[in-house]
Amino acid sequence: MTISQLLRNLTTIISPFAILITVTGVVRSQTPAVSCPNSALTRFVKHTATTGETVAQIAQRYKISPATVIVMNPKLRNGKISNGQEILIPPYDGIVVEVGRGQTWRDIAKKYQVRADVLFELNGCQAPSDIAFIPTAKKSTRTQSHTPVAAAPTPSKFSRYPLVTTTPATIALAYGWQTHPRTREVFFHSGIDLLAMVDTPVQSVADGVVAYAGEQGSYGKLVIINHGNGLQTRYAHLGKIKVTQGQQIQAGSQIGLVGTSGEPTGKEPHLHFEVRENTGLGWAAKEPREYF
Ligand SMILES: [Zn+2]
Repeated sequence: MTISQLLRNLTTIISPFAILITVTGVVRSQTPAVSCPNSALTRFVKHTATTGETVAQIAQRYKISPATVIVMNPKLRNGKISNGQEILIPPYDGIVVEVGRGQTWRDIAKKYQVRADVLFELNGCQAPSDIAFIPTAKKSTRTQSHTPVAAAPTPSKFSRYPLVTTTPATIALAYGWQTHPRTREVFFHSGIDLLAMVDTPVQSVADGVVAYAGEQGSYGKLVIINHGNGLQTRYAHLGKIKVTQGQQIQAGSQIGLVGTSGEPTGKEPHLHFEVRENTGLGWAAKEPREYF
């Protein structure tokens, strides 16, 4: 069976998705946001089955549930897999659904009991298009709790403030759903914008290891620090970076200077500061203010 035959046999809810995959292989993004992981819809892979393989084995190999394998490949419901059969494997447990006209991520989130920001990120950080990937793996997405399934990080408070200043900075743009100051479009702001003069020193909020230090799209000059326990912080739009990837740093270590690199949301110079937790669905942005 060819992949196109297989796709034709998918249920109607995922057929638009199938067409996208078949025709373009990539779901086009209209307004890709800063350092967003590629949409889950573009990260499906095709597994070519071998004789004797079972759904359970395939599921285990790709770390998804057998139910997901069957949902994405309804032909497998009878339990028979033929040699050379192509099987669609999503990057996570989940389903693909059609999006109603004018529906927002918040509408979809409510319907499927998944956090809107998770949906937003998993679907390429853009407004919903015709179809969406809805994750089903995480219990926490249903309960809206902050506890990921495995290796729950303890949301400990940071010992330092990201800017070396005597008083906390003014927040030019808060975390969460915001109206973009320039485009007036509602978008998900994954961090907080802390107003600061250009060249204000930026410091790590906790001990950690530099996971990334360099230019990254609209983030501009960006430093990413992993703090362990599934916790990460990001410092964007820097004017100067003073650390290198792999470097061990302490809380309060200077990592760079405030700048205006990349595509800052507002005109005034600021540090775009993010806190992310490793949720098993990637690094999910959290409300930074909860950590101070
Ligand atoms: Zn920002």
